[in-house]
Amino acid sequence: MNQESPKPSAVLNGQTAVVTGGSSGIGAGIARALGEAGANVVVNYSGSRERAEEVVARIREQGSQAVAVQADVSSESDVEAMFRQAVEIFGTVDILISNAGVQQDAAFTEMTLDEWNKVISINLTGAFLCARAATREFLRRGMVPGRSSALGKIIFVSSVHEIIPWSGRVNYAASKGGLMLFMKSIAQELGAKGIRVNSIAPGAIRTPINRESWDDPEAKAELLKLIPRNRIGDSSDIGKAALWLASDESDYVHGTSLVVDGGMTLYPGFISAG
Ligand code: NAD
Repeated sequence: MNQESPKPSAVLNGQTAVVTGGSSGIGAGIARALGEAGANVVVNYSGSRERAEEVVARIREQGSQAVAVQADVSSESDVEAMFRQAVEIFGTVDILISNAGVQQDAAFTEMTLDEWNKVISINLTGAFLCARAATREFLRRGMVPGRSSALGKIIFVSSVHEIIPWSGRVNYAASKGGLMLFMKSIAQELGAKGIRVNSIAPGAIRTPINRESWDDPEAKAELLKLIPRNRIGDSSDIGKAALWLASDESDYVHGTSLVVDGGMTLYPGFISAG
């Protein structure tokens, strides 16, 4: 572990963040942004340890501490073990970024129960298991004077598909729609305890999950028609939003989905029709 002290000016100094699915795409972007702001980062991964270690190395280069921890977020025992490890290493957890997610696309009539269950288990049940473990740790630890105005912060990475229906991906849209009311319900329940709960709803961000939409020029041109801002997002766009939601700068923001989508939810079809 890197023994250097975190940057003194950083807004998340002394705080520890668990970032699920932190070894790639949006999760890696958020892990780097929080690390740059001084947080200790637990980079969770389910597949390749190598990619998680690359993210850890980048964070350590920035002067913060980080470790890679394997866990399948849909497994209760894995999630419990990951939080135990985080507490053993860093003393507590202050921030959860529940980001791990998958797609298993199929036409509705062709969708198998396995495809349905896999997406719901990782995207929705995984969020439940991680948020419950984080909340229990926040309550166990209690307030630490001078660290943050909140007892803890939970940020879910949802999607514009908590709002926009998505044909051919009903399992994914159902998982993100469910995540929205899960987030709001626990925000209602936990607010008085000092725990802030929010989501980020990204639009199209250039990551491995949607490679076929931006790798091919024709597909990319079609995708850009859906984005008034006229560019595909980068994981750093989401990293900046997550940093703000995790910091005390957003102290009065609670129970909301911050849409970061270049305008995808503005019904762009109406630019030239209607
Ligand atoms: P990605 O494929 O790079 O990231 C998904 C991550 O989740 C991977 O690191 C993967 O290993 C991890 N993961 C998968 N199953 C897991 C499990 N069982 N346990 C732990 N980790 C697991 O793609 P991404 O685009 O970075 O996706 C991150 C999140 O952002 C997802 O929740 C996705 O739904 C959401 N999102 C992405 C976009 C986009 O345009 N890329 C848009 C909206 C929402």
